[in-house]
Amino acid sequence: MQSEVTTGGAHRSGLAKLARGLRASLGLALNVALPPLCPSCRQLIGDAGALCAPCWSGLSFIAPPYCERLGIPFVYDPGPGVLSMQAIADPPAYHRARAAVRFDEVARALVHAFKYGDRLDLAPTLGRWMANAGRPLLADADALLPVPLHWRRLWARRFNQSAALAKEIALVSGVPLAHGGLKRVKATAQQVGLSRSERALNVQGAFRVPSDGKADVAGRRLVLVDDVLTSGATVDACARALMRAGAANVDVLVFARVVDAVKTPI
Ligand SMILES: [Zn+2]
Repeated sequence: MQSEVTTGGAHRSGLAKLARGLRASLGLALNVALPPLCPSCRQLIGDAGALCAPCWSGLSFIAPPYCERLGIPFVYDPGPGVLSMQAIADPPAYHRARAAVRFDEVARALVHAFKYGDRLDLAPTLGRWMANAGRPLLADADALLPVPLHWRRLWARRFNQSAALAKEIALVSGVPLAHGGLKRVKATAQQVGLSRSERALNVQGAFRVPSDGKADVAGRRLVLVDDVLTSGATVDACARALMRAGAANVDVLVFARVVDAVKTPI
């Protein structure tokens, strides 16, 4: 077992089994009293909010060289400021996008635990990684804007994961949050399972800057915050609405992004 490279592996995995059993039988209400589990694979670990060693090494942080516009990593370094073919052929409505990690198996498990698994305690960790990945964007920004949920989904899920991340990034970076700048006016279907063009159609006209939110947007440099970037259709629709309302600049900062093979223009 890979996880047993850490000290006292057999003992720890036995404890993990016990902790999982306890959790299952006593329920999630006792979470705080039980030893912390890795949010990705649910092995027993030392610190709450941290990953076990194998999951940690399986997490793929995004670092330069990447497309200056889309933030998608290049396989080799084409030199500073170079854009990907994708950014040139189909430029997004936002200016720049950055992500902390690639959306692979470990990232997917983390997002799932955070969003649906009552692991809100992950917000400071994810937020710190995002603030790090988005440092140049945050240095230029006037305000952070979480991608809003429709009120019906917010009601069902009880919290907006993007707002929770934006709050942490605000704490780390000192860039203030602007809450009312953007509203989701259309309850869209889940983007999961839709093609690229279906995704764009699904979120068309879904976001609007309300009249009392215009002052938060006009002439300002904004950073949109979301958990995952897949096709980019959602943040693109948000950026379009914000630019129409007079935003000076819109950048995008996400925790994880899907990375397909990307071609450099040379
Ligand atoms: Zn793990």
